[in-house]
Formats: sequence, structure tokens, C-alpha cells
Amino acid sequence: MSPVATPRPAGTPTQLCERCGAAMRCGLTAGDAACWCASLPVVDGARLRRPDGGAWGACLCPACLGALATGTNDPDDAPNTRH
Ligand SMILES: [Zn+2]
Repeated sequence: MSPVATPRPAGTPTQLCERCGAAMRCGLTAGDAACWCASLPVVDGARLRRPDGGAWGACLCPACLGALATGTNDPDDAPNTRH
């Protein structure tokens, strides 16, 4: 086992989603080798924009990334068909 600085319990939320405010865990923030988002299908960069056209300043939760990846850009209007 290699030494790991300040190990955290897996799944501990490390930040809040900038889009919907849900507690989520960013692998990079948590010190993982890679974030779970790296395993997601590549999302069109143009879709990863806020409704006002700006860029998100932090990681988004799985639900929001999934919504953006499928073109749904309103958290209150997101279909709950994906898990
Ligand atoms: Zn979110």
C-alpha cells in the first residue's frame, strides 16, 4: 500500500454542485487519481455552459453532468428517467 495523505471515507461529499447545490464528491478535490467524471462519455464542451453562456467554476454533480450531456439544461425540468 502506498502512503496516502489524509485518506477520506469513500463517497464523502467534498463540495457542492455549482448548478443545483447538491452535495457531491469530486475525485480531484478528494485527492483521487481521477474523478468519477473521467469515466463519463465525453460531453460536448459547448453544452457544458451555464444558461447565461458562462463557464462553470467548479465540478458538477452526476445528475447535472448527465442532464447537460443529454441536452437538458434546466435542473427543475430534468427528466428523472436516468440513474
Ligand atoms: Zn448538480
